[in-house]
Amino acid sequence: MFATLSDRLTATFKNLRGKGRLSESDVNATIRDIRLALLDADVALPVVKRFTGRVRERALGAEVSQALNPAQQVVKIVQEELVAILGGQTRTIRFAKQPPTVIMLAGLQGSGKTTFAGKLGAWLKGQGHTPLLVAADLQRPNAVTQLEVVGERAGLPVFAPERGNMGGHDAVLGSGEGTRSFGDPVAVSRMGIEQARAKQYDVVIVDTAGRLAVDADLMHQASDIRAAIQPDEVLFVIDAMIGQAAVETAQAFHEGVAFTGVVLSKLDGDARGGAALSVADITGEPIMFASTGEKVTDFEVFHPDRMASRILD
Ligand code: GDP
Repeated sequence: MFATLSDRLTATFKNLRGKGRLSESDVNATIRDIRLALLDADVALPVVKRFTGRVRERALGAEVSQALNPAQQVVKIVQEELVAILGGQTRTIRFAKQPPTVIMLAGLQGSGKTTFAGKLGAWLKGQGHTPLLVAADLQRPNAVTQLEVVGERAGLPVFAPERGNMGGHDAVLGSGEGTRSFGDPVAVSRMGIEQARAKQYDVVIVDTAGRLAVDADLMHQASDIRAAIQPDEVLFVIDAMIGQAAVETAQAFHEGVAFTGVVLSKLDGDARGGAALSVADITGEPIMFASTGEKVTDFEVFHPDRMASRILD
């Protein structure tokens, strides 16, 4: 991911090397190259415009004229502005003062939510937490089973409606510890949190239903769950390979469920990825985690500065 963008930017900066001072036309030529590199990488147009505007302003300002090495100065400015569009500071989970901390996952079907639920849970478990996964995706017959499989692989308990009873009214925790009645994802989510309280799990990760495209029903359901469980974090999982639809999708979810952070999944893919990089800047919410494969351990805390360095390497 981002290899082409990285190559293009590096080539652009090469042209500046050895220049004692940067003229306005040097800066303009550089900005033009950066703009094309970002657009070709699928970064959203408004993000590209803001980005290049800021870089241009700073590059033409005092910073550069006083610098010993103007090319390095420009690279530094681009690096800092890249960090800014990626959300600035590294941010991880805000834990509730009073456990359990409730983390809701939202996103399109196939974006990698269920897989990420296991990864996040395993990561938190490694830090001494005791997460419970809650299967609130009752839309697809397979979704609950899938979360159970993910839970098993990650060594995490799963609160889920009983197998074979998907429209269903019974819930079990793990293999039959206590059965209660409910029929919808809001109730499942609530019940999961109750169970976490009763059994002293300190984090609840609620996996919600996705659709192949944003639709009103999906958003209502997710927003009802959000209202009912008052999560401490709502993480929007987005497939980094989604392309230009990233912006529209992110905006719809931001309006619908007011997510508090972004997870970029499938960062191991070889797509251009720039659209997903636009999501933090477009919504104002930070990218918090990255998913980089199908294994439970293919998980990273997202560091905007390290990602910017990786791109500019
Ligand atoms: P959900 O519908 O949002 O819950 O998505 P899933 O978690 O079921 O993931 C959809 C597909 O993408 C599955 O085949 C996963 O194995 C795969 N997947 C999820 N995350 C990643 C990732 O980071 N990298 C790759 N290569 N595949 C992933």
